[in-house]
Amino acid sequence: MTGPSHTSAKPREAILSRGRWPLLALPRPLKTYLCGIIALDLVAICVIAARTDLHVHDLLTFAALTFCGVVCIEATRRLGMPAGVSRDLLSAWWLPAALLLPPLYALLAPIPLQFLLQARVRATVLYRRVFSAAAIGLAACAASAAFHGWIGDPVLLSSGGVGPIAVAVACAILFTVLNTALIAVAAHTADPKGRWSSVLWDRERLMLDAVELCLGVLVAVVCGLNLWLLLLVLPPVVLLQRSLLHAQLQAAARTDPKTGLLNAAAWQLEADTEIVRAQRTGETLAVIIIDIDHFKRVNDTHGHLVGDQVLIEVAATLRSQLREYDVVGRFGGEEFVVLLPRADLTEARRIAERLRTRVGRMAVAADHVMVSVTVSAGVAIMNTHGEDLIELLAAADLALYRAKALGRDRICLPATPAPPRQRRADGTTGAIP
Ligand code: GH3
Ligand code: MG
Ligand code: MG
Repeated sequence: MTGPSHTSAKPREAILSRGRWPLLALPRPLKTYLCGIIALDLVAICVIAARTDLHVHDLLTFAALTFCGVVCIEATRRLGMPAGVSRDLLSAWWLPAALLLPPLYALLAPIPLQFLLQARVRATVLYRRVFSAAAIGLAACAASAAFHGWIGDPVLLSSGGVGPIAVAVACAILFTVLNTALIAVAAHTADPKGRWSSVLWDRERLMLDAVELCLGVLVAVVCGLNLWLLLLVLPPVVLLQRSLLHAQLQAAARTDPKTGLLNAAAWQLEADTEIVRAQRTGETLAVIIIDIDHFKRVNDTHGHLVGDQVLIEVAATLRSQLREYDVVGRFGGEEFVVLLPRADLTEARRIAERLRTRVGRMAVAADHVMVSVTVSAGVAIMNTHGEDLIELLAAADLALYRAKALGRDRICLPATPAPPRQRRADGTTGAIP
C-alpha cells in the first residue's frame, strides 16, 4: 500500500512548531482535510460497530490476518524503510479482511499494523500514520460493503466460482482506487502546484497495485478455504515484501532526497558507464556543471526553506528540459551535473543555453514575493576537453569558474584563449566561447 508524503515548503513558523503538534502547523486546507478523513473514519467505526454482531470465527480470522501482517512487518523490519512515499504489501492482509469479514473489520484492520509500523519500523509524525489507517480503513470498508452487498455470503469466494472471484477483483480495484484518491487529495492539498500525475499512477505504481490486488484476492480465497492455509501463504508474501523493500531502499540510496535527482555517487557511476560506452563506440558526449548564482543570498534573504524549494524547482526544470537518457544529478549544495550522451559541441551549448534560460524564467513563491534565480554553467566535450570523467569534470568546472568570473548567468567552455563576445539568446551579450 502507498504511504502518504505531505511536503509543505511554506511557513517557517510551521516547521518551528513541528516538535509538539505538527498537525496544527499544517496549512489550513490540509489540516481540515486530514482531520475530516480521520473523523469520518472514527464515526464509521462507531456507527458500524453498533450494528455488527461479533462471531468467534470472524474474530479468529481477523486475528490470524493481523498476525500475518505483524509477521510481515517484523520479518522486514531490519531492512528499514525508505523515506517519503514507500510501498508495502500489507494489503495482502487488509483485503482478505475486507472481503471475508463484515465491514467493521476492514475499518479496524489497518490500525494495529500502522501502530506497529510507527513503533517498530519508522516513527514518523503521528498524524500521517493515523491518516493512513483512516484512508485505508475507509477504502477497505467501501470495498467490503460493496462485496457483501453483491455476493451476500463471502464463503462463496472460496467455492471457486468465477462470479464471486470477479466481484472480489472488482472490489479490490475499488479499494485501490479509493485509497489512492484519498492519499492523492492529501498530497495535492499539501502541494497544490504539484502535478496530479505525480501523486496518482505511474507504470511502477500500477504494477505494484496489480500485484497487491492479486495477492489480496488469492489470500482471501485461501483463507476462506481454511485458516491454517495462511501458514503456507505467509512465507512467499514475506519474501515478496522483502524484495520490494530492498528494491525501494536501493533506489533511495541512489537518489538525492531533496530533489529526487541522482546523488553524486550514483551520477558518477552512470556517467562512467556512458563514458565507457562512448569510448567504445567512438561517439561524443558532453558534461555540464550548473551552479545557481548567488544562492547564499536566497537563503539569507528568504530562509533555507525557500532555498530548498528553489533547489527542488531548479531540479524539476532541469529534468523537464532533458531527454530520457540524459543523466542528471545533484552534485552537492546548489550544484547540478548533466551528462548528455551523443551531444556534440553545438548541441551541448544549445541544451545548456536552454537550461539556463528556463531556470531563469522560473519563480518560487516566498512570503510576499516571487524568488527567481539565474545559473552559470560550464560545458566540456569528450575528446575535445577531456578523455575520461575526471578530466571532463575538471574541464567543466574550470569553464564554470570562468562563467562566474565573467559575471554569472552564462554558459562557458573551458577554452583558454580570450573568448569572443557573442549575442546571447536573451539579447544581451555574454561570453559564449
Ligand atoms: P556563486 O554565485 O558564486 O555560486 O554564489 P553562491 O552564493 O551560490 O555560492 P556559495 O558557495 O557562496 O553558497 C552556496 C550556498 O548554498 C551556501 C549554502 O548554505 C547553500 N546550500 C547548500 N546546500 C543547500 C541546501 O540543501 N539547501 C539550502 N537551502 N541551501 C543550501
Ligand atoms: Mg552558487
Ligand atoms: Mg556552488
